[in-house]
Amino acid sequence: MRRPGTPARLPRWGPRPAGKARRLRISAQLHASIVACERCPRLRTYCQGVARDKKRAYRDDTYWGRPVPGFGDADGRVLLLGLAPAAHGANRTGRVFTGDGVGGSGDFLMSALNRAGFANLPTSHHPEDGLRLHDVYIAAAVRCAPPDNKPARAEITTCLDHLDAELTQLPNLRVVVALGRIAWDAWFQLMARRERVMPRPIFGHAVVWHPPSGPEASPGKGWPIAKPTIVGAFHPSRQNTNTRKLTPAMYDQVFGRTLPELLRAR
Ligand code: SF4
Repeated sequence: MRRPGTPARLPRWGPRPAGKARRLRISAQLHASIVACERCPRLRTYCQGVARDKKRAYRDDTYWGRPVPGFGDADGRVLLLGLAPAAHGANRTGRVFTGDGVGGSGDFLMSALNRAGFANLPTSHHPEDGLRLHDVYIAAAVRCAPPDNKPARAEITTCLDHLDAELTQLPNLRVVVALGRIAWDAWFQLMARRERVMPRPIFGHAVVWHPPSGPEASPGKGWPIAKPTIVGAFHPSRQNTNTRKLTPAMYDQVFGRTLPELLRAR
């Protein structure tokens, strides 16, 4: 058994696009445009207030306090789509699913990714912790921490422009894992900018939605990429994990079995 903190073996789930060294982030220009975004005054005010007032446990930290871009393997085939930064997690550290406390959502998610071979560490504590993702890029539907983790519908709609822009820089994307119903709905809202999906599939854990096959699944029709398959997964919030609504075995089902099968097939 591998000790925590030692690198995971790379998964071998079928051909991975060959060629140049992997890009471990989106372009500096896109990154900067997300970080500088001020389009939602309510969220910007909230994030700056949290960064100023801080939590007692983090009073010596310098909070990020700005929008949080995606993180991970920009040449990867998998996009994990979360909801939004946590006020004292990613809003503090500047990296998605990072720093929301020992045993928080970042650790729960990274532990599952590590077991499945998508991450070299089973924890996600700070941006210099050495965490590296393999074949996976993580982003959030909303890039600024919202009060009570509840973004307004208009804020989701506005912020999807950033995900839309990131898609153009994820050329190998094949599978999107939506972490929670809001992320699931946000993804289909983004799809609806290009085409109608009727009826819109209902979110559920381990639910898989395949795009239409044939020419329609190819880039074109406004899609910068081949349309990905969508997988639903419960969000790894403490509310879900502490109540056992979501268990490690349920994430192993998605990341250790469903996802590898889908990648082999695409
Ligand atoms: S939530 Fe998104 S669109 Fe709104 S200010 Fe933050 S980064 Fe900009």
